Amino acid sequence: MRIINLNPETDIGASAWFVNFEGHGLLMDSGMHPKLEGRAAMPLFKSILNEELDAIAISHCHHDHVGTLPVALRHFPKAHVMLPEQSYFIIERVLHNSVNVMTKQRDELGLKEYPLYTHDEVDDIAPVFQGYRYNREVEWASFSKTRAGSSSPTLEFFDAGHTLGSAGILLRGKKETLFYTGDVCFHDQTILRAARFQDVKADVLIMETTRGNRPTPKNFTRQGEIERLTVAIQRALKRKGSVLIPSFALGRTQEILALLALLMREGKLKRQPVYIGGLGRVFTEIYDLEAHRTHRQHTNLQLHEAHNLVVLEKGQGEIMKLGGGRIFVLTSGMMAENTAAHDLAVRMAGDERQSIFFVGYADPSTPGGRLKAAKPGETFVFSPGAGRVTRRCDVQDFDLTAHANRDDLLDFVGQVSPRAVLLGHGDGASRKWFEDQIRARHPKIKIIQPQPGKAVEV
Ligand SMILES: [Zn+2]
Ligand SMILES: [Zn+2]
Repeated sequence: MRIINLNPETDIGASAWFVNFEGHGLLMDSGMHPKLEGRAAMPLFKSILNEELDAIAISHCHHDHVGTLPVALRHFPKAHVMLPEQSYFIIERVLHNSVNVMTKQRDELGLKEYPLYTHDEVDDIAPVFQGYRYNREVEWASFSKTRAGSSSPTLEFFDAGHTLGSAGILLRGKKETLFYTGDVCFHDQTILRAARFQDVKADVLIMETTRGNRPTPKNFTRQGEIERLTVAIQRALKRKGSVLIPSFALGRTQEILALLALLMREGKLKRQPVYIGGLGRVFTEIYDLEAHRTHRQHTNLQLHEAHNLVVLEKGQGEIMKLGGGRIFVLTSGMMAENTAAHDLAVRMAGDERQSIFFVGYADPSTPGGRLKAAKPGETFVFSPGAGRVTRRCDVQDFDLTAHANRDDLLDFVGQVSPRAVLLGHGDGASRKWFEDQIRARHPKIKIIQPQPGKAVEV
């Protein structure tokens, strides 16, 4: 099979993998690079313009996996789009939101090529989306080819435990199999249970490596992190300061809301309103609606019933009083400019009563990453728009990741036992760690670090 990594950069970047699998073309994910702007943020579609594409399969609805899907469909209008069933309820919201964000960026940053697609275009492509349940084998080759007698490979989604509707993708052909992890979590989170990849075996493995640069500290437990976060929130509210937990709208927001709901139920936190963003509210509703059809914990916990959720209106975060102990769970997780979390953080950073608690990854080159790295009292450039701020507030980092720990992923390589593994979705140091470890443990497995846009024959 022939595989092309379409991520325009060698970092975590935008996920998009082309595979020619026994004569049929499949694109797995069509993400947008979160740190690049304009066309540079898109996958390297030009590397596959001469390819035939039968279908597009989406692993989950995070922006770095799905944010350029309308552009991909412009190039390949005949491809049908397959996604895990619950992502089917999410995807249009994500894409429409993306149009809004890009339009705003065009106006504020002068990016003329934005938006890369329009609301109308999102509506036009929606009919080609098809949702599939986990663990069902479906054919994906274009009908014209299979009618002509060529073989028909299948695809099966496996619950990846990362966000609602997240999946690993297993391709089965006549001779070969390929598994793509997407983003995967091998431990239980507060809502979602761990990935169900136990039965996966494949000849070729495409694997995420997000946390390859991050050793798990001795004695680390997720429960310990939750307790540390609980105490930190209690202290912050006691001194009448507010708490900001920057979170992605899909997944992270609901995990944190569930955590807060359980703490309130247990009496560890006083019941009080929680401020969230509009998109976070929409996905929270979908989490609630799908609660009994999701492999999860606390199936009876309905977040919108457990909480008094208040959607923060545009501009409200700039004028709202921050004394009196409010709780904000707002996008974006990395505090990108023009987001609610960014604007609120600018107000909070210089005030020692306020608290900003990170619960997920923030790239060092983002405002969130810079704030994380700043020492108390340090003045630094938060973002081009906000300029310099002095960090006086309480900033803490809690490891409640939705990505697999590196040791679990390494064990997974052993389980899958592929002849070749392709490393992606991680920075250079992360991929290097995996390469070294896999080589030491499984000397027979071929390790490939595919370069952007270069085809590899596996
Ligand atoms: Zn993700
Ligand atoms: Zn990702």
